[in-house]
Amino acid sequence: MRKQNYPIFIGLLLTFFNAATAADKPPAPFNRADLAAAATLRERASVDTTAYQLIESLTTEVGPRPAGSAGDKAAVAWALREMNRLGFANVHTVETMVPHWVRGEAEFSVLAPFPQTMPTLALGGSVGTGNEGIETDAVMVKDLDALAALPAGAVKDKIVFFSNRMDRTRDGSGYGKAVAVRAGGPSKAAELGAVGVVIRSISTSDSRFPHTGALRYASTAPRIPALAISNPDADALVRQFDSGKPVRLRIRSTSRDLPPAPSASVVGEIPGTDLAHEIVILGAHLDSWDPGVGAIDDGAGVAIMMGVARLIGGLDVKPRRTIRVVLFANEEFGTSGSLSYVAANEADVARHVLGFEADFGAGPVWRLSSRVNPVQLPAVDQIFKALAPLKLVRGDNEARGGADLEGLSKRGMPILEPGLDGTNYFDVHHTANDTLAQVDPKALRQSLAAFATTVWLGAQYSGTWERVTTEKAPRR
Ligand SMILES: [Zn+2]
Repeated sequence: MRKQNYPIFIGLLLTFFNAATAADKPPAPFNRADLAAAATLRERASVDTTAYQLIESLTTEVGPRPAGSAGDKAAVAWALREMNRLGFANVHTVETMVPHWVRGEAEFSVLAPFPQTMPTLALGGSVGTGNEGIETDAVMVKDLDALAALPAGAVKDKIVFFSNRMDRTRDGSGYGKAVAVRAGGPSKAAELGAVGVVIRSISTSDSRFPHTGALRYASTAPRIPALAISNPDADALVRQFDSGKPVRLRIRSTSRDLPPAPSASVVGEIPGTDLAHEIVILGAHLDSWDPGVGAIDDGAGVAIMMGVARLIGGLDVKPRRTIRVVLFANEEFGTSGSLSYVAANEADVARHVLGFEADFGAGPVWRLSSRVNPVQLPAVDQIFKALAPLKLVRGDNEARGGADLEGLSKRGMPILEPGLDGTNYFDVHHTANDTLAQVDPKALRQSLAAFATTVWLGAQYSGTWERVTTEKAPRR
């Protein structure tokens, strides 16, 4: 008998042990109702038409909206109107001053050895040539390292042509590597005595649309004009150099700076409930470059973030944390809106407990990455599970986030990053071809589903989003 009692005794012990373990276990990151609402959001996003209509409306009624332009002001009015129409709370602006650069006209011609005129765009922020233009011999280099390796005096009074081509990648890393030439090339060339710069577009397109984007003049070098030509034209120019004959170019640009102008970021919220003081921030940028109408950069991001907030606002259950959409002013030419937002929210930086940014086209989303405190990785795993029907790849915990959330993420705000597929993004980005025709409504709906699910679960998380204390990984 005694012997037979042992199993009962052990069984009782085990029961006690299990109960103690269960009591010590943290609560599940998400309850069943939150997960059910996440599924509802995913289903509603998959038939959503609002996000596409927002891009349609922004690109049709506002169009190009570079910092300081009439389109910039119209975009702010558009965002206020649309946020109110969609029923967002606390809709307001955060004022900021923005640089006001005007493109003017640009011309690019090869004078020798084989005369040709090619389409061109001035780089954002570049100075003009004067009305008569600049005519001089040219030197071809691959990139900044090749420029630095030239003998002294090699580019004096010449135009430098940077010939390097960017790589096509899904995560945009090819752009990160190539863009240094656009940002810093003009000043590096000017330091060596060059009088102008022409770059191969930082683009993957085989079209003849050149690609613009901001340069950054160093204070230590003279400001010289800088233009971009398309990939096929850059290939043709390389062939002219390869002929071995001297290459002579003519460039002309009437771009110029006007005095800084007032603009604003536009904010709207879906108020939280028990954790309303904690903010989940959804960032995109309202401005665009001027040759196109900013459908993929960043009309798509604007539409995804407004679409997410609208879908969450339409649920029967209200979010725990406040969801705040911020459409930032002037991301493209100095992130003015982002800087002024952080300055205006200095006392509330720590209330921004989680950040999302959409500034990489209209999707689809292919990966879920994060930059969270490692104690939160199990919660990210749970979110990834909830995204299973969308068939994403699990990324790492070294997400960079976008430019507009840089200020907040540097100060420890965790980031969740539904990664938009950038394979074809740089065929269109910053070109005249950035129009509504480039937005695939199906990919946009899938992206909306991925963002809505992730944002919602981020807002409902049962734990605390701890600050991130590790250094940011270098840009890949
Ligand atoms: Zn952008």
